[in-house]
Amino acid sequence: MQILALSTFPKAILATTLVQVIALGAVWALKGRDFLLRKYLGSLVSLAVGVLLATALLHLLPEAIAQLGNTPMLWFVLTATLLGLFATERVFSALTGGAAEPAGANTLTTREHHHGHHTSRPINLVFGGMLHSFVDGVSVAAAFTVNTRVGLVTALAITLHEVPHRLGDFALFVHLHVSTRRAMQLAVLVGLPSLLGVALVTVIGAGASGATAWLLPISAGSFLYIAMANLMPELQHECKLRRVFTQIFCVLAGAALVLLIARLPGA
Ligand SMILES: [Zn+2]
Repeated sequence: MQILALSTFPKAILATTLVQVIALGAVWALKGRDFLLRKYLGSLVSLAVGVLLATALLHLLPEAIAQLGNTPMLWFVLTATLLGLFATERVFSALTGGAAEPAGANTLTTREHHHGHHTSRPINLVFGGMLHSFVDGVSVAAAFTVNTRVGLVTALAITLHEVPHRLGDFALFVHLHVSTRRAMQLAVLVGLPSLLGVALVTVIGAGASGATAWLLPISAGSFLYIAMANLMPELQHECKLRRVFTQIFCVLAGAALVLLIARLPGA
């Protein structure tokens, strides 16, 4: 099934813009209300873990196999994505002094924790965030070339991890004595490359239809990495049993949500 990326471009742009608006809206609504953030951050990150894992393993990879066949090349691309993200993050982290992680979705607590040990500059956070949101845009656009349902699930997965990611960045900007107004502007700037990612996929899809299917194992790898390397380690800091149960419940709820969308009739 080859669908021209051109025809899905408006949907992908709309979904990507919506993701950014929601993420920025959350930052705007929660600025100066750290108590709310601290209360619900764990649940939000847990929900994101469930949605990201289920989207990668129940939507993106099965769709990649359906389109490309269960070939060693597909699994090679997935492995290369995971190792590539690890290498990029490590090198970037070493070069910039530790706090900024390009593909990371660090939350407030970890950012503050890191800040205690490293000197970080807002420019590093902005650069890392821009790189990350570019990959997010590529994922959304590639998913919409499969079908609208996979596109929407992917956009949901990105929204749920972008909200804590942006909140964490914003808190750190303010912590680094960037003015609230400037921090808000930087938050907008960080999201812009996602639109560029959509445009790139559209150009690739228009040039070689079918090539976009190879972006699916890359999106899947990026989601698996964010869930397991960036988000899960943060959840592992929690030691109160009641909160651990809340985490487990939210992870399962996230996965269930994705399954539910998968079973929507006619989608
Ligand atoms: Zn993201």
